[in-house]
Order: sequence, then C-alpha cells, then structure tokens
Amino acid sequence: MTIKTAGQWLRRASERIAGISDTPGLDAEVLLRAVCMLDRTALAIAPEAPLKMEQLERLENLLVRRAQGEPVAYLLEEKEFWSLTLWVTRDALIPRPETELLVECALDRIEDTTAVQVLDLGTGSGAIALALARERPAAQITATDVSLRALEVARANARAHGLQNVDFRAGHWLNAVPGQCYSLIACNPPYVAYDDPHLQTWHTKYEPQLALISGKDGMEALQQIIPAAPRALVPGGWLVLEHGHQQEPAVDHLLHQARFDSIIHYRDASGKSRVSAARVSESFAE
Ligand code: GLN
Repeated sequence: MTIKTAGQWLRRASERIAGISDTPGLDAEVLLRAVCMLDRTALAIAPEAPLKMEQLERLENLLVRRAQGEPVAYLLEEKEFWSLTLWVTRDALIPRPETELLVECALDRIEDTTAVQVLDLGTGSGAIALALARERPAAQITATDVSLRALEVARANARAHGLQNVDFRAGHWLNAVPGQCYSLIACNPPYVAYDDPHLQTWHTKYEPQLALISGKDGMEALQQIIPAAPRALVPGGWLVLEHGHQQEPAVDHLLHQARFDSIIHYRDASGKSRVSAARVSESFAE
C-alpha cells in the first residue's frame, strides 16, 4: 500500500517498531508531529491529512533509525527534563525522569542566595545543572564534564534557556575544580557494571558508554567521588548522588567511611533506592 496520509503512516510505523519499542504508537506519533509540525489536536482532527513527499522521506529515514533501536530523543535531538527542553546528542546521556528526584533532593538543600555555590559533577547535556540554575537564580552553579563534546551541548543548552548563573569546567570529577569549595555537590555518575545485561538494551547502546559504565560492579566512579568530596564542601555542605538501586548499602558504607553524617537514602517513583544525600559534618577538618 502506498502511504499517503498521516493516519496511514502512523499505523504502518507503529507496526514496524512494535518489536523494538515499548511505546510504538507514541513514538510514531511524536516523530510524525515533529516532522509535520502538528500539535496533538491538529493530528486528532485531521488524521487523514495528506503527507508531502519530503515529509514522507524524512519520516521514513527516522523510522529506519528507530527500527534499528535508536532512541527517539536522539532522533529528534531533544528531551524534556524538569520543564526544560534540552538539546541532546549522542555525546551525552539522555536525561532520565528518575534523575528529577536528584534535582528535588538538591533543591531542598539549596537556598537562593548569592553566597551559594553549587557543583554538578559530570553534567552531560547539563540537565541537573540547568534545572538547579533555573530554580535558584541567585545561586552560582558550576558544571563539569570530562567530555568536551558533552560540555558543548550543556553550554548550548544554558544559552538556549538564557541561564547565566552556570559556568562550565572540563576535567575528571573534582580535578575539574581544584581548590574550590561548594555548599552542595550533585552528581549522577556512571554506575552500571560493564557486564550488566541492561547494556544490551536498545537505548543504552546508543549512549556514551563513559556516562553509563563504571567498572566491574558499577561502583568505580562513586568510589572516586565520595572520598574526595568532603574536601570540596563547606562545613555542613551536602553531597547528593544518584546510584543504582542495589548500590545503596555500598554507597552508605563509602559515605560513612568518608565521615559524612546525616546520610539519607531516597526512593524513586517506582520505589527503587536511587538517590543518597549526605552532609559533611560542621566540624569537618582535614
Ligand atoms: N539509570 C541509567 C540507566 O538505567 C544509568 C545512568 C547512569 O549510569 N548514571 O541506564
């Protein structure tokens, strides 16, 4: 059958990606609306609107990539996070909804005053840093990444959203900000074990492995960051971390070893342990 209308394309496209996507109908609709610049209502009103040849070509091209497993966020180079539409490329992890929990936990601990300095370690597309910058306009946010290409994406996102209270530094974890002290450090490090079967799923295959994988048990980055963090925090400052849902005991142990107190673990919307927050003691001294 020759495809002529939006409705015909939608039906055919969702069948074609049914094996690869958990949400084939939605994916097809999102692609169609982006290419044809249609909102939901327009599509609902006129499902049999004819497609132009160039729209059809672009749609077929995106559909082939989607059928191979490429995530919709990379196809459209765009992902919503914390009410911000972010530019995403394959140089950065696609921001996950569960990371909004990390943003909430950090915001609970950041006052909106000019004295507050906040660090986002391994910012990727800038999701965490930009959400914090948006919600706390008086605070000064520093975002780091070891990947210069990820930093370019994050910088472009800050510019696109007109956020001027964020600056960017290149480097490996805290080496990016030598001698600096912060009221709060937020970090969503890589925490997946290199042989985790989850890495065989379609979406993670397209993401930078550097942002996902952290050694044999997924703990390598956390083992570097947690012991080093107290030196980069003001007395009473907070470290807020995302981690895997089975890593809570190991993270808790590392936080105790590094002499953090007030250690709190949080669960995400699906009930999985996902974020830990820990305060460096008021009397912490080297
Ligand atoms: N939660 C992500 C996943 O499931 C991993 C993100 C990360 O390593 N920071 O793939």
